[in-house]
This record gives sequence, structure tokens and C-alpha cells, in this order.
Amino acid sequence: MKLLTVSNLNATYGDFQALYGVCLEAAEGEAIAVIGANGAGKSTLLNTIAGSVASKGDAIRFAGEPIGGLHPWQIVARGIALVPEGRRLFASLTVEENLLMGAYSRSRDAHSLDEIYKIFPQLRSRARQSSLSLSGGEQQMVAIGRALISKPRLLMCDELSLGLAPKIVGEIYETLALIRERGVTLIVVEQNVRQAMAFADRVYCLQEGRVSLEGISTQLHPDQVSRAYFGIRQNQSQGDLPDLDSGSPGVRSDFNSEASGPTNSGFAGEGRA
Ligand code: ATP
Repeated sequence: MKLLTVSNLNATYGDFQALYGVCLEAAEGEAIAVIGANGAGKSTLLNTIAGSVASKGDAIRFAGEPIGGLHPWQIVARGIALVPEGRRLFASLTVEENLLMGAYSRSRDAHSLDEIYKIFPQLRSRARQSSLSLSGGEQQMVAIGRALISKPRLLMCDELSLGLAPKIVGEIYETLALIRERGVTLIVVEQNVRQAMAFADRVYCLQEGRVSLEGISTQLHPDQVSRAYFGIRQNQSQGDLPDLDSGSPGVRSDFNSEASGPTNSGFAGEGRA
């Protein structure tokens, strides 16, 4: 049985539809990456699974049970935790207080602070400091620790590498690998495609709210990924991933200017293994 099954998920903000019939699965212990350009719907997908964006019926099932319509705190209690984009730490709280906020919905089952400090030893000496006095990398550790303290079976991370130096990103992904070794299932949203594909077993690419490609990371050709990511025609693709991990808005918009014509439908399911 899959730990998480998302079937034909639609999500809307008022009249605006952000997700169209998205399907995604994660087996227990798997690492999944969700990639896609700005506005593709990646955060919406995670926020819908986490319950902060509404979903209907049993489009989302976790451990065999539908979780659509549950409150975010109920979803945390079921074993799903989210590290949100931009960390969203509580500015007026210390590191320790921020970490403890994550345990709120799992008062009996949560990890102890000590267990979180074993995973992120750097945070132990910073426990009483304001979270905002920390470096960006350390703040990201607090955000991951705050999610992890609820002892999730599924940890979802939104844009962990945003704004961080490559060395710090590398360290954070090494820690995620350790977390995974403990049996936690992971879904990471990443704009750094190389990082995502190196880390994850399987990749889903979103484009304009639809899954434009899914497949096993090691079996996807960079050319397929470029086309699914940007929605460009085959003869416009570059045959490599040189620009996908640059994080450069300029590079992205160059490609996007060519992406206006074709829809993503031609690439859907192309990388299915
Ligand atoms: P990014 O990498 O820029 O965060 P994303 O792939 O995570 O992009 P989402 O943030 O999920 O994309 O946004 C998907 C679409 O939904 C975009 O068109 C965005 O403008 C829209 N959207 C996101 N949040 C809201 C909201 N609260 N209200 C209205 N529209 C929203």
C-alpha cells in the first residue's frame, strides 16, 4: 500500500484554478521531488496535502485514509509535516520555542528537543537565541526541526535551497538523507533540478498546474525534463540541464518566452517507468 496517494486533485483560489487533476504517489520510505517553474503549482500541491488549501473527497489518501477536509493540525497529528517555503519562523520566539511549536499537535508522540539537537547539533548552543539572529542555513534547520519534532511519517519540504549557498544546501540534503534512513518518507519541492534529481527516487514535474512528466530520476533524460519544465517544443530543447539549476530568473524567463505556444499535454506521462 502506498503511504500517500493523490488522485485527480484539483485546487482553486477563488475563481482561479491552480491544480488540474494532479496524481502523485509516495511509497513508505521513498524520496519524491516535485519540480517546475515559478507558479507551476508546487507549493499549492504541498499546501493542499498539508490541509492549508482545501481539497475535496478522497483525492488525498494517507495511510489508507482520506484526509481531505481535515484541519492542518489534524493532518500533522496523522503524521504529515510541512517545511513551508520561506521557513516562516516565529520572529519573536527563540530557536527552542520555534521547535516546540511543531510538537503542539503531537503532544504525546513528539520527538524530544534532544532528539532534534542530535540531528542538528548546531542548534543546541543557539537554543535561547532569537530565531532571526541565525544564518539562513541555521534558520532552515530550525524550520526542518520544527516539522520533524512532530515525528512525521511524511515530511514535505518546500524550496529548501532557496537563497542558500551551495555548501549549505549540500549539508541540508545530507541531513535529509539521514532523516530518510530513519524511515521518513520525503517530498521535496525544488527549483534546483539537479539537486532534486540527485536526491529523489522519483520526480514529478508540474507545469501550469498539471503533471507534465513523472518518472524514476535516473531514467529521465535531461531533454525530457527541460521540455516538461518549460513546455518547449522538442526542437527548442537543449538536451541538457545547464540552466535548470541556476536559479536565475533571467534564464528562466528566456525559456518562458518560448513557452507560450505549446501546452503541457503533449508531454504528460512521458517519463513513466
Ligand atoms: P513558486 O516557485 O513561485 O512558489 P509554485 O510552483 O510553488 O511557484 P504556487 O505558489 O503553487 O506555484 O502557485 C500556483 C498558482 O497559484 C500561481 O499562479 C499563483 O499565482 C497562484 N496562487 C498561489 N497562491 C495563491 C493565493 N493564495 N491566492 C491566489 N492565487 C494563488
